[in-house]
This record gives sequence, C-alpha cells and structure tokens, in this order.
Amino acid sequence: MIRFLRTFLFIGIASFATAADRPNIVLILCDDLGYGDVGFHGAQDIQTPQLDALAEGGIICTSGYVAHPFCGPSRMGLMTGRYPHAFGAPFNLPGAHHGMTAVDHEGIPEGETTLSESLQQAGYHTGAIGKWHLGASPAHHPNQRGFDHFYGFLGGGHQYFPEEYRPLYEKRVKAGVKRIHDYVTPLECNGKAVRESEYLTDAFSREAERFIRDAAPKEQPFFLYLAYNAPHSPLEAKEDDLSIFASLADDDRRTYAAMVYAVDRGVGRVVDALKDTKTYEDTLIIFLSDNGGNESLGADNGALREGKGSVFEGGHRVPMVFHWPDHIPSGRKIDYPVSTLDFYPTLLGLAKTSIPRGKVLDGIDLWEAFLTDRLPSRTSPIFTLRHRLGYSDAAARRDQWKICRAYDTKWKLYNLDHDLSESRDLSHQHPERVREMVALMERWSRGLPEPRWFDSPEVQSNWEETAMPHYDETFEINR
Ligand code: CA
Repeated sequence: MIRFLRTFLFIGIASFATAADRPNIVLILCDDLGYGDVGFHGAQDIQTPQLDALAEGGIICTSGYVAHPFCGPSRMGLMTGRYPHAFGAPFNLPGAHHGMTAVDHEGIPEGETTLSESLQQAGYHTGAIGKWHLGASPAHHPNQRGFDHFYGFLGGGHQYFPEEYRPLYEKRVKAGVKRIHDYVTPLECNGKAVRESEYLTDAFSREAERFIRDAAPKEQPFFLYLAYNAPHSPLEAKEDDLSIFASLADDDRRTYAAMVYAVDRGVGRVVDALKDTKTYEDTLIIFLSDNGGNESLGADNGALREGKGSVFEGGHRVPMVFHWPDHIPSGRKIDYPVSTLDFYPTLLGLAKTSIPRGKVLDGIDLWEAFLTDRLPSRTSPIFTLRHRLGYSDAAARRDQWKICRAYDTKWKLYNLDHDLSESRDLSHQHPERVREMVALMERWSRGLPEPRWFDSPEVQSNWEETAMPHYDETFEINR
C-alpha cells in the first residue's frame, strides 16, 4: 500500500511537471537596441517582421524598464530579480584588458540564487547562448550559475566576424599578452573553446535552434536565455544584410539596421524551431533589450529622451514583448510600468515553484495583471541609479510620474502620460510629490552597499578620491 501510494505520488508530481502545465521559456535579449528600432514601435527604416509578428500575437509593454541603463548591471538585475546595486554591482565588470583583478573572482555573488538556478532546481532544462557578462571566473561561469548548457562568450562584447577576430587573438597569444581583450577571444561551449565560423548573430541563432531541437523531446520543460550581443558595437554587419538597407545614407545607421535585421532573422529561426518541434504553443517567448540604444552608434530611441547610460527614459525604457499562444491576450498594449525585476517572481510562478527561502526580490509577480488587464499593485516606485564621475544620476517612476536628477542638476518632475520626452518640468507645480518620491528613493539608496568592483581604474580612483556616491547632494531637494 505504501509502495502504491509512493508510486501514485511520484506519478502525480511527475505529471504535474510536464511542459503542458509549465511553459517552456525563451528569453531573447538584445544588446543596446533602441526603443524606436523595432517595427512594432514604428521604426520606418528598419524592418523587423519576425519581432512584429510576436508583438502582434502577444503583449507589448510600452513602459518596459530594465534595472540599469547599461549592460552588466541590467543583466544582473534580470537574472537575480534584485537591483544590482543591492549586491554591490552598479558597474560593469571590468574587461580583461583593464588588468583589474576583480575579473578573476567577481560576478553575481554566490549568495544570490539566479533565475536560471531556480528554474533548473524546479526541473527545467536550461541553456544560455550568446553574451554572458555576469562573471567570467570559474565560480561564476554559466554552467555554475544554473545553466545546463552554454554557448557564447563570457565578457561584455565581441567582434562579429571570426575571420577578423581570430587573427587578432592569435597575434596577441603569440606576443604573450596575458589579459587579452574579451572582444577577440574564441567563443566557448560549456567551458571549451570552439572554432566558430559564422557571423556571431547567425551563430547564436543556429545554437538556439539546436538547443530547442535537443530540449523539445525531453520530459522537462526548457528555459533558453538567448542573449544576442547585437546591435552593440562594434558595428559589423553582413554584406547581404547591408544591401537591404543600401538606401540609408548614414553608415552607422545602415550597419546598425542590418545588425538588427540579422537578429530578427534569428528570432524567426527560433520560432520555426519551436513550431517544427511542436513546442510553440507551450512556449512563452519574451523579447527585450538590456538598455536603451546608443544614438551616437546608429540607434534611435524614438520619442524618448537620451539613450544608453542615461536615467532619462531613453536609457532604461526598452522594447519589451511577451508572447504565448492562447495563454496571454494577443494584440494588447500594456502601458503601466513593467520592470525586468518582475521577471523572476513572474516566471517562477509560471514554473509553479516557490521563491527560494530567504531570497529578497525587488519586483512583483505580474501574471494576474497580464491576464486580467488590471493594474498591478506595486509598493515601491521603480528606481534608476547611475553613478557618474563625482556625482550620481537618479530617477524614480510611479504611475505616470517620474522624478529625475541628471548631470548634477536639480530634481525635475515629469508626467510621462503627457510628456514622454521629459521636456516639461512640473516640480514647481507638485513640490510635495517630488519630496515624497525623492524621500522614498533616498531611503532605498542609503541601504545600498559599496560597489564590489569598478569597470575601469579611472572609475575606481574617482570613486575613492571624491568620496562617492554623494547621496547628501543627490537627495537634497533644493540643491
Ligand atoms: Ca547593453
């Protein structure tokens, strides 16, 4: 009888864990893609038919925010469900060529259970493809941080053409360079260097397709984190893709457009692989950018002010789409703020697994709100804090209101419902609102630890010499 009960329970749990109950999750991240650079946000000169089809069949989050206006901290926020500042990570990890030792031992702190670790523990087959940038030491390698499979590179960026970067790498090896620039090192598969031959975006799309084909027959659901480094610099595109955009006069814009087009083609490949393996209906696809576009490198953030690195909207509001046939509404736009910090609790909810004991999360489970189109109740504003040399930029969003202090100037207040471009400061009309939101942000900031690493020796020496982060000045209303 006991054996029968055990068997029954085992079957019960096993069937509970099939893909039909829990979706596969494909999380596609672009690098530095501008808000205005996708068809579904009105791009006129870049075609993204595959992304537009996902947007049309799913939900577009028009106010989708990342946790930081540049790469590393944004990705750490996504992968931990916490503001990166909360564990000392408001800066990118230094590139190997900077010679800073943090790169040898730092990454997402081991005490922070990652999204991938949680999904892996919940029985998901997990894969990361593309750019990592979450720690290059053995302890922080993707295979140690919740991914059964990894294909890509560990640093913050990479050249795109193997026939161009390989000779540069070999030359440096020959010259005895110890810390070779990340952008030219060989790609790897689960810790072993591989000899890639394709344009990187196409290589990552190919590997994503391979992962889906391997994962689909398994009993377990799968989680694929496909992190393209495109269209991040260096601006390098294939001739075939460039020819599609031959009418664009600006060289950077033409190359950038071709790079985005290659990503779109890859998204189509992912969708086709899901359909071929009959997993499309059981798969939640999420698409977004890790931060705003760099407008000095061909990107366009549409109506948003500024771009990558900024606490204005162009820095941290990104294209964001959720797609899952028959499970979420199609053709819907959601205008209330959604943060990548919400992904962790939302995805664990869909995976029917609990939040790890003791895990602190800064976001909320959005699923009910998505399904019912009701406003989610968020207890805290969404914060953006970017340390610069000698001062800190800061912003907070709640409902339609945004307070913003950039470039060491006074706090401003914007109503984003009427002023998406943040051009009309309403702080004098609503001083109480400014005071209240600044106070909330100050309370949060004061509890943050010192950075565990800096992205360059210059930033580190500035931090130390000017006694950063200067919160007294940052949160002084009348300064
Ligand atoms: Ca980025």
